[in-house]
Amino acid sequence: MLPPREKEGYNHCMGFLDWWFPRICKLCNQTFDGDIDVCRHCLAALPYNRWPCQRCGLPLPQPAIDLCQRCQTKPPAFTRTIAPLLFQDMIRDWVHAIKFGNGCREAQLLGRLLTTSVRQAGDVLPDVLVPVPLTLRRLWRRGHNQALLIAQPIAKALEIPLCRTGVRRVGRQRPQRGQTRKARDQSVRGAFRVTREWHGHVALIDDVMTTGATVSELARILLGAGASRVDVWVAARVDARARVDTRVPESRR
Ligand SMILES: [Zn+2]
Ligand SMILES: [Zn+2]
Repeated sequence: MLPPREKEGYNHCMGFLDWWFPRICKLCNQTFDGDIDVCRHCLAALPYNRWPCQRCGLPLPQPAIDLCQRCQTKPPAFTRTIAPLLFQDMIRDWVHAIKFGNGCREAQLLGRLLTTSVRQAGDVLPDVLVPVPLTLRRLWRRGHNQALLIAQPIAKALEIPLCRTGVRRVGRQRPQRGQTRKARDQSVRGAFRVTREWHGHVALIDDVMTTGATVSELARILLGAGASRVDVWVAARVDARARVDTRVPESRR
């Protein structure tokens, strides 16, 4: 389950440092030997999205099905989703820490878990990674884009360029929680503007996918601007079957 060493340069010096300063698991505070801040036991206990829809990442009830009902009848603009975790338990806390606090370690961790899943999926890798942009207003209020924090370790590990410009989010970005699928589709319509032509295969990176309305709209815009294929890599997927509380305190929006 643990990913291979990221670089050949993990040499004797680093081995000595691990021995001298053993790693502490972020979840159980035990020392361990590993690469991604969480021991094997805690890693095994994370809420994994075991049987996702291959197209939209929606958790499915059994492994025999490849596509959810919606993707069979009304597929989204993107081709494929990789969403290794479910948005619940500690994953929800990590995502909130990344969005509203000092969640750099959590972002690093989610980025590395996502990298592992991408490697395990064995798909053709994209030409460029695009963190889902925030509006300038939201970026100014928050101070950072959580999608970019997650995308950075992925870009580094997979050696894929990261594009932070070329598409902008415009208008007013309103909280979408509690909205129906149809309302979300309507509220993101026209939310993105490209600032150049696009080519090749793109992977959009984000922290959480709820209905997929935002990434589907962004994929539609990039395909319209010339991209040949758009995939979606998100750390966590909301399980639409479960009643998941996606609310955050008023002061943190
Ligand atoms: Zn642990
Ligand atoms: Zn689906």
